[in-house]
Amino acid sequence: RWDMKGFMKRNWLLLATIVSVLLGIGLGVLVREYASLSNLDKAYFGFPGEILMRMLKLVILPLIVSSMITGVAALDSEMSGRIGLRAVVYYFSTTIIAVILGITLVMTIKPGVSQNTDNIDREGDTPNITTADTMLDLIRNMFPENLVQACFQQYRTQRAEITPEPPTNTTTPTFPPFTTIMTTVAQNLTKDYKIVGTYSDGINVLGIIVFCVAFGIVIGKMGERGRILLEFFDALNEATMRLVQIIMCYMPVGILFLIAAKIIEVDDWDIFKKMGLFVVTVLSGLAIHSIIFLPLIYFVIVRKNPYTFVLGMAQALVTALMISSSSATLPVTFKCAEENNRVDKRITRFVLPVGATINMDGTALYEAVAAIFIAQLNDRDLDVGQIVTISVTSTVASIGAAGIPNAGLVTMVIVLTAVGLPASDVTLIVAVDWLIDRFRTMINVLGDAFGAGIVQKLSKRELERMDLTSDMDVANP
Ligand code: ASP
Repeated sequence: RWDMKGFMKRNWLLLATIVSVLLGIGLGVLVREYASLSNLDKAYFGFPGEILMRMLKLVILPLIVSSMITGVAALDSEMSGRIGLRAVVYYFSTTIIAVILGITLVMTIKPGVSQNTDNIDREGDTPNITTADTMLDLIRNMFPENLVQACFQQYRTQRAEITPEPPTNTTTPTFPPFTTIMTTVAQNLTKDYKIVGTYSDGINVLGIIVFCVAFGIVIGKMGERGRILLEFFDALNEATMRLVQIIMCYMPVGILFLIAAKIIEVDDWDIFKKMGLFVVTVLSGLAIHSIIFLPLIYFVIVRKNPYTFVLGMAQALVTALMISSSSATLPVTFKCAEENNRVDKRITRFVLPVGATINMDGTALYEAVAAIFIAQLNDRDLDVGQIVTISVTSTVASIGAAGIPNAGLVTMVIVLTAVGLPASDVTLIVAVDWLIDRFRTMINVLGDAFGAGIVQKLSKRELERMDLTSDMDVANP
């Protein structure tokens, strides 16, 4: 017989979260209809949600540091190299699949053809960022010059004065894309760009990860002397996860107000009518990727039911949908992967933080669809070379995007400039980004989780060998 009580007990948090999403939507609609709130009132309304976001962000740093260092130090370097390689192959191939899917859909559905752009607002100007800039920033971020600063600031190039205008005519040269990128990188390296400044953009997760990997390797090689550090970070990890447990109890309250405040705040719902087909294209791409492609890959490799795995991740997926940030969802992703899906800690500690930072299938798919949509709006026919350029730059742009809300919209500029589309056209899709962002973040998180499950399966033999040797250590200390 179905044990209702047991089910409720095991899943109370997930059920409470889902109920609070529904209540939040209802509350939002009611307040919108019947109360006229001032802007200040609206800001107050979202306050409990803001507190949830702050708490989740608060634990990101100790979580990433402790899990990466212990993750790396616990494995020998050969093994972490192999796990790392498997993870990277998985990240890369699934991102490419997502991009190809997006391109196929947008070229079939053609949401931008015959769309009249006059009734969509083009707002102000956008900064000019090129593919080369993003790649250089990505590498710069890997080597923070100051560890403390890296905890609150990511490096982003902003150039004002010396900005090469992107070609706007149709005669964009189409070199093989990789060559194009490399030439631009080379040109940019030799050019004397005036870097106007950096702006704060959340934690530099990539820089912290690179540092922790190096630090973890060193600790792992120090033998007895390194043990004390390893134990320290291990205890830090456990303590942080206990904090996460407490924060998650507050989650239903925070989410209720987060979603209600959003519904009250959005003032242009009509935009979804105008942009409907574009939104539908992106969402169907995300749906196909997450309901068919990713589960299929998981099934082929792991030979277990992928949908049970998805259900196990439900809490993390709802969180991502509500807060649009892979990084801030990371604590919940850890909990679901380890506790519900029983992914080995040695794998999650290693694979999840990196995935949350560089593996973004949803973002990559969205970038490709949006770029081609904008080309359609501009009546531009793209040749094969340009389509390939869009695939490559979308992948780079998704790797470069931070796991924070709307990051993909910013890196979108590099995809547009790479094929000579006006970068300022990003503003055409700004108004719908808050909604798309939620869904693509959800797919980003799901991709990371599947990745952990798949890498665990592929590394099974090594993990077992490690278990054996540590058992022997215990037997003959
Ligand atoms: N918000 C997304 C994430 O955190 C990134 C994006 O804007 O596409 O995964």
